[in-house]
Amino acid sequence: MNTHKNIRAARGTKLTAKSWQTEAPLRMLMNNLDPEVAEHPESLVVYGGTGKAARNWEAYDAIVRTLTTLEDDETLLVQSGKPVGVFRTHEWAPRVLIANSNLVGDWANWPEFRRLEAAGLTMYGQMTAGSWIYIGTQGILQGTYETFAAAAEKRFGGTLAGTLTLTGGAGGMGGAQPLAVTMNEGVVLIVDVDASRLERRVKHGYLDEMTHDLDDAITRVLAAKEAREPRSVGVVGNAATIFPLLLERGVAIDMVTDQTSAHDPLAYLPEGVSVDEWTAEAERDPVGFTERARASMAKQVKAMVEFQDAGAEVFDYGNSIRAEARLGGYERAFDFPGFVPAHIRPQFEEGRGPFRWAALSGDPADIAATDRAILELFPDDERLHRWVTAAGEKVHFEGLPARICWLGYKERHLAGLRFNEMVASGELSAPVVIGRDHLDSGSVASPYRETESMKDGSDAIADWPLLNALLNTASGATWVSLHHGGGVGIGRSIHSGQVIVADGTELAAQKIERVLTNDPGTGVMRHVDAGYEHAADIARERGLRVPMWEG
Ligand code: NAD
Repeated sequence: MNTHKNIRAARGTKLTAKSWQTEAPLRMLMNNLDPEVAEHPESLVVYGGTGKAARNWEAYDAIVRTLTTLEDDETLLVQSGKPVGVFRTHEWAPRVLIANSNLVGDWANWPEFRRLEAAGLTMYGQMTAGSWIYIGTQGILQGTYETFAAAAEKRFGGTLAGTLTLTGGAGGMGGAQPLAVTMNEGVVLIVDVDASRLERRVKHGYLDEMTHDLDDAITRVLAAKEAREPRSVGVVGNAATIFPLLLERGVAIDMVTDQTSAHDPLAYLPEGVSVDEWTAEAERDPVGFTERARASMAKQVKAMVEFQDAGAEVFDYGNSIRAEARLGGYERAFDFPGFVPAHIRPQFEEGRGPFRWAALSGDPADIAATDRAILELFPDDERLHRWVTAAGEKVHFEGLPARICWLGYKERHLAGLRFNEMVASGELSAPVVIGRDHLDSGSVASPYRETESMKDGSDAIADWPLLNALLNTASGATWVSLHHGGGVGIGRSIHSGQVIVADGTELAAQKIERVLTNDPGTGVMRHVDAGYEHAADIARERGLRVPMWEG
């Protein structure tokens, strides 16, 4: 029996719920709160500042109770982490529909959100925390690997060998950065105020070594850069202090980014506050704390802009630090680009994005078998081969074994159908769930991140993620979620997610074909509509119907 202190999803083929369609969300909710997976499981926080899996423990217990008894023609509705109703639907309908953190436009700001949260009426769902498809740091590792690979291609002749990258934040997502840099053969210095975050990354093999001493850290990274040896070094300290110091000392840094939790000013530690005082200070005076955090972010971002002035490759890694620094009074904050326009958009045009799956059996052999299947299915995709092979060797599973790789429109369903066959034939020992991050090509409106600088200026149009969620619901996804504020904070994004269960049945195959075709299809559609030519070519080649082209 799980306790609230030590939640762990069931493994193996014995069902707790009535079918795999409900066992899957049950296991994935529990997996999100597994201490091996969640950053702060005791307070239901999975990752990304305060991204939670359920509103409170009473709500968690009620979700578990309901999923355990839910029938295959019923749908559970979850409102910001609290189960609020069960309705009779049908077997093609999702078993769970989730809406997290949504607020009406004029009310969509952190103070109002926090007021409602304190009143027990909402919770922050981040992207995959409240939608139960977080798979630990690996989830972001591949996207981070791809981003650094694209930067290496653009600036450093295809490899980061002999280069030094500086970044901040070694949390749930940010912790992927050191391994992503070393997988691209580079050297990285990562700054975090909280030593325990760096210790965790060392323990899980995402970070090579750490120190409390900046001089020592500088000596180590410069030696590795000189020797062209991949190496990651963590240093304990405040990024607002350390970034300007490194600039001042003229340390030869080639690339700079950051993944502290800047999207939430209460989750960014200002200079002058210790880690031990953090929570109490933020609770005592949230307004004053926000101002101090923004002033510190302004200092950090000023250093980043000046690193760019000095010739470094600098980009915002999707945490809103530029917007917060501007609120903190730094005018040049937007002088460097976000990572999507800088490196990711061409992939989004193809409907490519973070496709992921988890083995409900808990058996790593199931993931090894799916890795082999992916390599066989896409024999000509070199980047995919490099990634899947390296991930198989280097990625430490956190919670249920899982894998991620970026696949596009008219590719994802092939993988899904193959996995479903493997469940049916017994090649896999239990069903798998197939989902994705909300950070995908057709499922998010986020003007400081995924939809920054869209060609037609449609950055803030949020009809697209709503249509994506509705289409996934209509296509047979097992659970569908619609969130606000993930990644970049309240008021700044609207996004949707889907997860589908491959249980080896013919019905699952039919649903998988539709969902895993239509879901990335909305990404191609969104970029066709915005005027991207590569997206239009993909739509023509792969047979996406665009009504404005017909007639
Ligand atoms: P997290 O809360 O798990 O970790 C944040 C880390 O930042 C913590 O370890 C914290 O100690 C550290 N930190 C806070 N203030 C600091 C300071 N002043 N100096 C140094 N370290 C400091 O968050 P996470 O899940 O790692 O996400 C980090 C950010 O990245 C979030 O804003 C998130 O929204 C964003 N994000 C980006 C992507 C992407 O694809 N680019 C994806 C997910 C999340």
